Amino acid sequence: MGEAATKTVHSPLVTYVSVVSLLTLCPPFVILLWYTMVHADGSVSQTWDYLIGNGLKGLIDIWPKPTATAWKLIGCYGAFEAALQLLLPGKTVEGPISPKGNRPVYKANGVLAYAVTIATYIGIWWFGIFNPSIVYDHLGEIFSALIFGSFLFCVFLYIKGMELYPRIGKNFDIKVFTNCRFGMMSWAVLALTYCFKQYELYGKVADSLLVNTILMLVYITKFFWWEAGYWNTMDIAHDRAGFYICWGCLVWVPSIYTSPGMYLVNHPVDLGSQLALFILAAGVLCVYVNYDCDRQRQEFRRTNGKCLIWGKPPSKIVASYTTTTGETKSSLLLTSGWWGLARHFHYVPEILASFFWSLPALFNHFIPYFYVIFLTILLVDRATRDDDRCRSKYGKYWKMYCNKVPYRIIPGIY
Ligand code: NDP
Repeated sequence: MGEAATKTVHSPLVTYVSVVSLLTLCPPFVILLWYTMVHADGSVSQTWDYLIGNGLKGLIDIWPKPTATAWKLIGCYGAFEAALQLLLPGKTVEGPISPKGNRPVYKANGVLAYAVTIATYIGIWWFGIFNPSIVYDHLGEIFSALIFGSFLFCVFLYIKGMELYPRIGKNFDIKVFTNCRFGMMSWAVLALTYCFKQYELYGKVADSLLVNTILMLVYITKFFWWEAGYWNTMDIAHDRAGFYICWGCLVWVPSIYTSPGMYLVNHPVDLGSQLALFILAAGVLCVYVNYDCDRQRQEFRRTNGKCLIWGKPPSKIVASYTTTTGETKSSLLLTSGWWGLARHFHYVPEILASFFWSLPALFNHFIPYFYVIFLTILLVDRATRDDDRCRSKYGKYWKMYCNKVPYRIIPGIY
């Protein structure tokens, strides 16, 4: 399945500057975010003052060492997830055909792996086999170990050739492991960890953390429910396995994506049932709309346009394109339903959902909203990258789509 990297999306200079900046800035950022949440009362200015006062030495002093406990926890978790990925049964599904004509085959056992993981984690806590608070208490060391371990892993991927569909043996798909079973799964596991820790600290879980956790779990459940669909998205079908994707999923997802919950552990807010239920309902609605956008596109492509979109036959563009091997093929572009509102409308409910699971922190500190801001920048960049890619793939047909659906993300605005 190996398709080595041949060219980059941006110019080589932009690519190298961004890679160097990401490599040097992201790791300290992960540590500083954890430090701010856990040790600096969630206050950016407190962390800032500390750094100004203590400089680089101060950063090194607070940087936790990757301890044996941290490696053990990561090792057990990673091995458990890898075993579930390999051993649990699942339907065989095919991924999208690559530019060189490869079609990857996957075992769709994500929902089962997710259910087994959650049940096992709650079960080992319930029966007193393992106290999940240990994970929270070693969080800094875990992030530190993930930072170094994932660097080594990325080096391995580069040596392997930054493939589109890297595998170990015939069946163990590395991107399914890093993106879904390690990254996305760790999000759910850490969200629960934060509840266990707050329960240990205060004897109850505040409604704010409950709303935050439920919304995140609804989102992650949706993700695993739709995991085979995820294997058709840009992350898997277009982005090669390198730093951006793999380091992002192994380190950035467990640390940054879980950060609103990390903040709430030692900042319990009492929302009251009315506000809590309002935030919960608004968040669930956003996750549903996001899911429905993805579902609409997939159903439309799966049935070759022979489906109903919002109760009507879909309007579409039949777009032809040439593969790198010179073959002419065609794809259908949906121009009604959610995909007729804007070319990447699905990012609006995605961003709003993350806003709603951060909102339980209310407005005492800025830091719980960091993820929302990061996600907005990520998705605006992603919409631009995707538009560029589709323009060069479909040429005049993409122009027709842009004329018909002129907005990139927000209908009537952007
Ligand atoms: P998708 O891959 O789902 O959609 C983009 C692709 O769909 C295009 O590359 C094109 O591929 C095809 N396409 C574009 N327009 C149309 C159309 N009108 N009709 C049919 N096909 C079309 O996008 P993403 O991977 O960005 O998003 C998938 C999900 O993941 C979303 O829910 C998103 O919100 C979520 N997401 C979450 C992130 C997070 O960090 N929380 C980050 C990124 C995404 P083709 O070549 O096949 O034509």
